Amino acid sequence: MSHQLTFPSLDSWLPAASKPLLIAGPCSVESPEQVMTTAQEIKANTQAVALRGGIWKPRTRPNSFEGVGSVGLSWLKAAGEAVGLPVMTEVATKDHVKAALDTGIDMLWIGARTTVNPFSVQEIADVLKGVDIPVFVKNPINPDVQLWIGAIERLQQAGITKIAAIHRGFSSFEKTKYRNVPMWELAIELKRQFPSLPLICDPSHIAGKRDLLAEIAQQALDLNMDGLILESHNKPDEAKSDVAQQVTPLRLSEIINNLTVRTENSPSPLFANQLEKLRKSIDEIDNELLEKIAERMALVDQIGAYKFDNNVTILQLERWKEIIETRTLFAEKLGLDVHFIQAILQAIHQESIRLQNNKMEDLSTAKNNLQQQR
Ligand code: PEP
Ligand code: MN
Repeated sequence: MSHQLTFPSLDSWLPAASKPLLIAGPCSVESPEQVMTTAQEIKANTQAVALRGGIWKPRTRPNSFEGVGSVGLSWLKAAGEAVGLPVMTEVATKDHVKAALDTGIDMLWIGARTTVNPFSVQEIADVLKGVDIPVFVKNPINPDVQLWIGAIERLQQAGITKIAAIHRGFSSFEKTKYRNVPMWELAIELKRQFPSLPLICDPSHIAGKRDLLAEIAQQALDLNMDGLILESHNKPDEAKSDVAQQVTPLRLSEIINNLTVRTENSPSPLFANQLEKLRKSIDEIDNELLEKIAERMALVDQIGAYKFDNNVTILQLERWKEIIETRTLFAEKLGLDVHFIQAILQAIHQESIRLQNNKMEDLSTAKNNLQQQR
Protein backbone atom coordinates (compact mmCIF):
# COMPACT_ATOMS: atom_id res chain seq x y z
CA MET A 1 0.00 0.00 0.00
CA SER A 2 1.31 3.42 -0.91
CA HIS A 3 1.86 5.62 2.07
CA GLN A 4 3.51 8.38 0.11
CA LEU A 5 0.28 9.88 -1.14
CA THR A 6 0.31 13.64 -1.16
CA PHE A 7 -2.61 15.95 -1.63
CA PRO A 8 -3.00 19.56 -2.68
CA SER A 9 -3.93 21.75 0.29
CA LEU A 10 -7.57 22.67 0.81
CA ASP A 11 -6.57 26.32 0.45
CA SER A 12 -5.40 25.68 -3.09
CA TRP A 13 -8.83 24.59 -4.31
CA LEU A 14 -11.31 25.88 -1.69
CA PRO A 15 -9.83 29.00 -0.15
CA ALA A 16 -11.43 30.39 3.00
CA ALA A 17 -11.46 34.12 3.57
CA SER A 18 -11.48 33.60 7.32
CA LYS A 19 -10.92 30.81 9.77
CA PRO A 20 -12.43 28.33 10.34
CA LEU A 21 -13.25 27.21 6.81
CA LEU A 22 -16.99 26.53 6.78
CA ILE A 23 -19.24 24.52 4.51
CA ALA A 24 -22.92 24.85 5.38
CA GLY A 25 -26.31 23.87 4.05
CA PRO A 26 -29.32 21.75 4.74
CA CYS A 27 -29.15 18.03 5.40
CA SER A 28 -31.52 17.62 2.46
CA VAL A 29 -32.63 19.76 -0.41
CA GLU A 30 -36.42 19.81 0.07
CA SER A 31 -37.81 22.47 -2.26
CA PRO A 32 -36.50 25.31 -4.45
CA GLU A 33 -37.63 27.86 -1.84
CA GLN A 34 -36.13 26.03 1.14
CA VAL A 35 -32.69 25.67 -0.43
CA MET A 36 -32.72 29.21 -1.87
CA THR A 37 -33.75 30.86 1.41
CA THR A 38 -31.28 28.77 3.38
CA ALA A 39 -28.50 29.69 0.95
CA GLN A 40 -29.34 33.39 1.19
CA GLU A 41 -29.39 33.31 4.99
CA ILE A 42 -26.12 31.38 5.06
CA LYS A 43 -24.54 33.94 2.76
CA ALA A 44 -25.87 36.83 4.84
CA ASN A 45 -24.80 35.45 8.21
CA THR A 46 -21.66 33.41 7.69
CA GLN A 47 -18.42 33.20 5.73
CA ALA A 48 -19.29 29.78 4.34
CA VAL A 49 -17.26 28.85 1.25
CA ALA A 50 -19.64 26.20 -0.09
CA LEU A 51 -23.27 25.15 0.09
CA ARG A 52 -24.08 21.53 0.92
CA GLY A 53 -27.37 19.75 0.27
CA GLY A 54 -28.37 16.09 0.14
CA ILE A 55 -30.38 14.99 -2.89
CA TRP A 56 -30.43 11.23 -2.32
CA LYS A 57 -30.63 10.43 1.39
CA PRO A 58 -29.39 7.12 2.69
CA ARG A 59 -31.90 6.50 5.47
CA THR A 60 -31.52 3.65 7.92
CA ARG A 61 -35.20 2.63 7.65
CA PRO A 62 -37.39 2.67 4.54
CA ASN A 63 -40.49 4.85 4.30
CA SER A 64 -38.73 7.87 5.70
CA PHE A 65 -37.77 10.85 3.54
CA GLU A 66 -35.18 9.59 1.07
CA GLY A 67 -34.46 12.87 -0.65
CA VAL A 68 -36.16 14.66 -3.53
CA GLY A 69 -33.96 12.94 -6.13
CA SER A 70 -32.39 14.43 -9.24
CA VAL A 71 -34.99 17.20 -9.68
CA GLY A 72 -33.38 18.84 -6.66
CA LEU A 73 -29.98 19.16 -8.31
CA SER A 74 -30.98 22.23 -10.30
CA TRP A 75 -32.58 23.80 -7.18
CA LEU A 76 -29.31 23.36 -5.33
CA LYS A 77 -27.26 24.69 -8.24
CA ALA A 78 -29.56 27.72 -8.63
CA ALA A 79 -29.30 28.53 -4.92
CA GLY A 80 -25.51 28.33 -5.08
CA GLU A 81 -25.37 30.54 -8.15
CA ALA A 82 -27.71 33.09 -6.58
CA VAL A 83 -25.37 33.60 -3.65
CA GLY A 84 -22.09 32.90 -5.42
CA LEU A 85 -21.20 29.66 -3.64
CA PRO A 86 -20.06 26.35 -5.10
CA VAL A 87 -22.46 23.55 -4.28
CA MET A 88 -21.86 19.99 -3.15
CA THR A 89 -23.96 16.89 -2.79
CA GLU A 90 -23.66 13.25 -1.77
CA VAL A 91 -23.26 10.56 -4.41
CA ALA A 92 -23.58 6.84 -3.81
CA THR A 93 -23.89 5.38 -7.33
CA LYS A 94 -22.63 6.08 -10.83
CA ASP A 95 -26.06 7.42 -11.79
CA HIS A 96 -25.88 9.93 -8.97
CA VAL A 97 -22.48 11.05 -10.23
CA LYS A 98 -23.70 11.41 -13.83
CA ALA A 99 -26.76 13.40 -12.80
CA ALA A 100 -24.68 15.64 -10.51
CA LEU A 101 -22.10 16.30 -13.23
CA ASP A 102 -24.83 17.00 -15.81
CA THR A 103 -26.29 19.69 -13.54
CA GLY A 104 -22.93 21.32 -12.88
CA ILE A 105 -22.67 20.39 -9.21
CA ASP A 106 -19.25 21.70 -8.17
CA MET A 107 -18.11 19.20 -5.56
CA LEU A 108 -19.17 15.76 -4.37
CA TRP A 109 -19.07 13.86 -1.13
CA ILE A 110 -19.16 10.15 -0.45
CA GLY A 111 -21.34 9.32 2.55
CA ALA A 112 -20.41 7.18 5.52
CA ARG A 113 -22.65 4.34 4.38
CA THR A 114 -20.95 4.30 0.97
CA THR A 115 -17.34 4.53 2.14
CA VAL A 116 -17.83 1.14 3.81
CA ASN A 117 -18.44 -0.51 0.44
CA PRO A 118 -15.40 -0.80 -1.85
CA PHE A 119 -17.63 -1.83 -4.80
CA SER A 120 -19.63 1.39 -4.54
CA VAL A 121 -16.56 3.54 -4.06
CA GLN A 122 -14.89 1.91 -7.07
CA GLU A 123 -18.02 2.45 -9.17
CA ILE A 124 -17.95 6.15 -8.28
CA ALA A 125 -14.20 6.39 -8.91
CA ASP A 126 -14.63 4.71 -12.31
CA VAL A 127 -17.23 7.19 -13.61
CA LEU A 128 -15.12 10.05 -12.32
CA LYS A 129 -12.12 9.09 -14.47
CA GLY A 130 -11.09 12.15 -16.43
CA VAL A 131 -13.27 14.52 -14.34
CA ASP A 132 -11.17 16.31 -11.78
CA ILE A 133 -13.99 17.41 -9.48
CA PRO A 134 -13.27 17.83 -5.74
CA VAL A 135 -14.47 14.87 -3.68
CA PHE A 136 -14.93 14.73 0.08
CA VAL A 137 -14.78 11.30 1.65
CA LYS A 138 -16.66 10.74 4.91
CA ASN A 139 -15.30 8.18 7.30
CA PRO A 140 -17.03 4.78 7.12
CA ILE A 141 -19.72 4.23 9.76
CA ASN A 142 -17.57 1.56 11.41
CA PRO A 143 -14.30 2.59 13.03
CA ASP A 144 -11.93 1.33 10.34
CA VAL A 145 -9.23 3.73 9.17
CA GLN A 146 -8.09 1.33 6.43
CA LEU A 147 -11.50 1.46 4.78
CA TRP A 148 -11.42 5.25 4.89
CA ILE A 149 -7.94 5.27 3.35
CA GLY A 150 -8.98 2.67 0.78
CA ALA A 151 -11.78 4.90 -0.51
CA ILE A 152 -9.38 7.84 -0.79
CA GLU A 153 -6.86 5.70 -2.66
CA ARG A 154 -9.51 4.46 -5.10
CA LEU A 155 -10.37 8.07 -5.99
CA GLN A 156 -6.75 9.06 -6.27
CA GLN A 157 -6.03 6.14 -8.55
CA ALA A 158 -8.90 7.29 -10.77
CA GLY A 159 -7.09 10.60 -11.23
CA ILE A 160 -9.02 12.72 -8.71
CA THR A 161 -6.59 15.16 -7.14
CA LYS A 162 -8.76 17.42 -5.00
CA ILE A 163 -9.66 15.16 -2.12
CA ALA A 164 -10.55 15.93 1.47
CA ALA A 165 -11.65 13.66 4.30
CA ILE A 166 -14.67 14.36 6.48
CA HIS A 167 -14.70 13.09 10.04
CA ARG A 168 -18.37 12.45 10.98
CA GLY A 169 -18.00 10.01 13.85
CA PHE A 170 -18.66 6.28 14.12
CA SER A 171 -21.72 4.26 14.87
CA SER A 172 -21.62 2.52 18.21
CA PHE A 173 -23.72 -0.09 19.94
CA GLU A 174 -23.16 1.58 23.27
CA LYS A 175 -25.48 4.44 24.21
CA THR A 176 -23.49 7.67 24.35
CA LYS A 177 -24.34 11.34 24.30
CA TYR A 178 -23.36 11.39 20.63
CA ARG A 179 -25.29 10.19 17.61
CA ASN A 180 -21.96 8.96 16.23
CA VAL A 181 -19.05 8.69 18.64
CA PRO A 182 -16.18 10.90 17.51
CA MET A 183 -13.30 8.52 18.31
CA TRP A 184 -10.98 11.42 17.56
CA GLU A 185 -8.01 9.05 17.62
CA LEU A 186 -9.09 7.62 14.26
CA ALA A 187 -9.09 11.02 12.61
CA ILE A 188 -5.70 11.68 14.19
CA GLU A 189 -4.42 8.36 12.83
CA LEU A 190 -5.60 9.26 9.31
CA LYS A 191 -3.77 12.58 9.63
CA ARG A 192 -0.66 10.82 10.91
CA GLN A 193 -0.57 8.55 7.88
CA PHE A 194 -1.45 11.30 5.38
CA PRO A 195 -0.32 14.62 6.82
CA SER A 196 -1.12 16.53 3.64
CA LEU A 197 -4.68 15.20 3.33
CA PRO A 198 -7.17 17.98 4.11
CA LEU A 199 -9.44 16.90 6.97
CA ILE A 200 -12.62 18.63 8.03
CA CYS A 201 -15.08 17.80 10.77
CA ASP A 202 -18.84 17.28 10.53
CA PRO A 203 -20.10 18.11 14.02
CA SER A 204 -23.74 17.78 12.91
CA HIS A 205 -23.61 14.02 12.36
CA ILE A 206 -21.36 13.42 15.37
CA ALA A 207 -23.70 15.41 17.62
CA GLY A 208 -27.13 14.45 16.38
CA LYS A 209 -28.45 17.36 18.44
CA ARG A 210 -28.02 21.11 18.40
CA ASP A 211 -26.64 21.69 21.86
CA LEU A 212 -23.54 19.57 21.24
CA LEU A 213 -22.47 21.28 18.01
CA ALA A 214 -20.35 24.03 19.55
CA GLU A 215 -18.32 21.76 21.79
CA ILE A 216 -17.58 19.30 18.98
CA ALA A 217 -16.66 22.07 16.54
CA GLN A 218 -14.26 23.51 19.12
CA GLN A 219 -12.66 20.12 19.71
CA ALA A 220 -12.17 19.71 15.95
CA LEU A 221 -10.43 23.09 15.72
CA ASP A 222 -8.27 22.24 18.72
CA LEU A 223 -7.13 19.14 16.84
CA ASN A 224 -6.09 21.48 14.05
CA MET A 225 -8.65 20.23 11.55
CA ASP A 226 -8.87 22.22 8.34
CA GLY A 227 -12.51 23.21 8.57
CA LEU A 228 -16.09 22.35 9.42
CA ILE A 229 -19.15 21.17 7.55
CA LEU A 230 -22.38 21.95 9.38
CA GLU A 231 -26.03 21.39 8.59
CA SER A 232 -28.17 24.48 8.49
CA HIS A 233 -31.81 24.90 7.50
CA ASN A 234 -33.98 28.01 7.27
CA LYS A 235 -36.65 26.23 9.33
CA PRO A 236 -34.81 23.47 11.20
CA ASP A 237 -37.84 22.29 13.14
CA GLU A 238 -39.63 21.54 9.88
CA ALA A 239 -36.67 19.76 8.26
CA LYS A 240 -37.53 16.50 6.53
CA SER A 241 -34.34 14.84 7.76
CA ASP A 242 -32.03 15.24 10.75
CA VAL A 243 -34.35 17.71 12.53
CA ALA A 244 -32.60 17.58 15.88
CA GLN A 245 -29.16 18.56 14.63
CA GLN A 246 -29.96 21.35 12.15
CA VAL A 247 -29.73 25.00 13.10
CA THR A 248 -30.76 28.24 11.43
CA PRO A 249 -28.02 30.09 9.57
CA LEU A 250 -28.22 32.77 12.28
CA ARG A 251 -27.63 30.24 15.06
CA LEU A 252 -24.86 28.72 12.95
CA SER A 253 -23.12 32.07 12.76
CA GLU A 254 -23.31 32.42 16.57
CA ILE A 255 -21.75 28.99 17.02
CA ILE A 256 -18.95 29.80 14.56
CA ASN A 257 -18.30 33.25 16.00
CA ASN A 258 -17.94 31.84 19.50
CA LEU A 259 -15.26 29.35 18.50
CA THR A 260 -11.69 30.02 19.48
CA VAL A 261 -9.35 29.60 16.55
CA ARG A 262 -5.92 28.56 17.78
CA THR A 263 -2.77 28.33 15.71
CA GLU A 264 -0.45 25.35 15.67
CA ASN A 265 2.47 27.50 16.71
CA SER A 266 2.87 30.81 18.45
CA PRO A 267 5.32 33.43 17.14
CA SER A 268 6.24 34.29 20.76
CA PRO A 269 9.78 33.10 21.63
CA LEU A 270 8.78 32.96 25.30
CA PHE A 271 6.01 30.50 24.46
CA ALA A 272 8.39 28.32 22.43
CA ASN A 273 10.89 28.36 25.27
CA GLN A 274 8.33 27.44 27.92
CA LEU A 275 6.80 24.74 25.73
CA GLU A 276 10.27 23.31 25.11
CA LYS A 277 10.92 23.09 28.88
CA LEU A 278 7.61 21.40 29.61
CA ARG A 279 8.16 18.96 26.77
CA LYS A 280 11.61 18.07 28.11
CA SER A 281 10.04 17.20 31.46
CA ILE A 282 7.39 15.14 29.72
CA ASP A 283 10.07 13.30 27.73
CA GLU A 284 11.86 12.45 30.97
CA ILE A 285 8.70 11.24 32.65
CA ASP A 286 7.81 9.11 29.61
CA ASN A 287 11.23 7.49 29.78
CA GLU A 288 10.76 6.79 33.48
CA LEU A 289 7.31 5.33 32.82
CA LEU A 290 8.74 3.01 30.16
CA GLU A 291 11.60 1.93 32.41
CA LYS A 292 9.13 1.18 35.18
CA ILE A 293 6.93 -0.81 32.83
CA ALA A 294 9.97 -2.80 31.69
CA GLU A 295 10.82 -3.48 35.38
CA ARG A 296 7.26 -4.56 36.04
CA MET A 297 7.26 -6.91 33.04
CA ALA A 298 10.53 -8.48 34.18
CA LEU A 299 8.83 -9.35 37.49
CA VAL A 300 5.90 -10.77 35.57
CA ASP A 301 8.32 -13.03 33.74
CA GLN A 302 9.63 -14.34 37.06
CA ILE A 303 6.10 -14.89 38.32
CA GLY A 304 5.33 -16.87 35.16
CA ALA A 305 8.22 -19.19 35.94
CA TYR A 306 7.12 -19.67 39.58
CA LYS A 307 3.57 -20.44 38.51
CA PHE A 308 4.89 -22.96 36.01
CA ASP A 309 7.08 -24.68 38.60
CA ASN A 310 4.13 -24.89 40.98
CA ASN A 311 1.45 -25.73 38.43
CA VAL A 312 -0.59 -22.62 39.22
CA THR A 313 -2.90 -20.91 36.70
CA ILE A 314 -1.84 -17.66 35.07
CA LEU A 315 -5.09 -15.85 35.76
CA GLN A 316 -5.97 -15.39 39.41
CA LEU A 317 -9.17 -13.43 39.60
CA GLU A 318 -8.81 -12.42 43.24
CA ARG A 319 -5.45 -10.87 42.60
CA TRP A 320 -6.73 -9.03 39.51
CA LYS A 321 -9.70 -7.68 41.50
CA GLU A 322 -7.39 -6.51 44.24
CA ILE A 323 -5.15 -4.72 41.73
CA ILE A 324 -8.09 -2.90 40.18
CA GLU A 325 -9.53 -1.90 43.57
CA THR A 326 -6.36 -0.66 45.21
CA ARG A 327 -5.07 1.15 42.11
CA THR A 328 -8.44 2.79 41.48
CA LEU A 329 -8.50 4.13 45.03
CA PHE A 330 -4.98 5.43 44.70
CA ALA A 331 -5.77 6.97 41.30
CA GLU A 332 -8.75 8.78 42.80
CA LYS A 333 -6.55 10.15 45.55
CA LEU A 334 -4.14 11.45 42.93
CA GLY A 335 -7.00 13.15 41.10
CA LEU A 336 -6.70 10.89 38.06
CA ASP A 337 -9.63 9.83 35.94
CA VAL A 338 -10.64 6.38 37.12
CA HIS A 339 -11.71 5.09 33.67
CA PHE A 340 -8.45 6.21 32.16
CA ILE A 341 -6.40 4.41 34.83
CA GLN A 342 -8.53 1.29 34.58
CA ALA A 343 -7.96 1.20 30.81
CA ILE A 344 -4.19 1.40 31.38
CA LEU A 345 -4.35 -1.35 34.01
CA GLN A 346 -6.37 -3.54 31.67
CA ALA A 347 -3.74 -3.12 28.96
CA ILE A 348 -0.92 -3.91 31.38
CA HIS A 349 -2.73 -6.93 32.75
CA GLN A 350 -3.42 -8.23 29.26
CA GLU A 351 0.25 -7.90 28.40
CA SER A 352 1.25 -9.65 31.66
CA ILE A 353 -0.96 -12.57 30.75
CA ARG A 354 0.48 -12.73 27.26
CA LEU A 355 4.03 -12.75 28.64
CA GLN A 356 3.22 -15.43 31.22
CA ASN A 357 1.60 -17.55 28.51
CA ASN A 358 4.77 -17.27 26.44
CA LYS A 359 6.89 -18.07 29.44
CA MET A 360 4.90 -21.18 30.27
CA GLU A 361 4.99 -22.35 26.67
CA ASP A 362 8.77 -21.86 26.49
CA LEU A 363 9.30 -23.68 29.77
CA SER A 364 7.09 -26.58 28.84
CA THR A 365 8.77 -26.93 25.42
CA ALA A 366 12.14 -26.95 27.18
CA LYS A 367 10.89 -29.53 29.66
CA ASN A 368 9.54 -31.78 26.89
CA ASN A 369 12.78 -31.54 24.93
CA LEU A 370 14.71 -32.49 28.01
CA GLN A 371 12.47 -35.51 28.60
CA GLN A 372 12.85 -36.63 24.99
CA GLN A 373 16.61 -36.44 25.22
CA ARG A 374 16.62 -38.80 28.20
C1 PEP B 1 -25.34 13.80 5.41
O1 PEP B 1 -24.30 14.44 5.31
O2 PEP B 1 -26.47 14.30 5.40
C2 PEP B 1 -25.22 12.35 5.64
C3 PEP B 1 -26.17 11.48 5.30
O3 PEP B 1 -24.11 12.07 6.27
P1 PEP B 1 -23.39 10.69 6.71
O4 PEP B 1 -22.99 10.00 5.45
O5 PEP B 1 -22.23 11.24 7.47
O6 PEP B 1 -24.36 9.93 7.56
MN1 MN C 1 -27.85 14.81 7.60
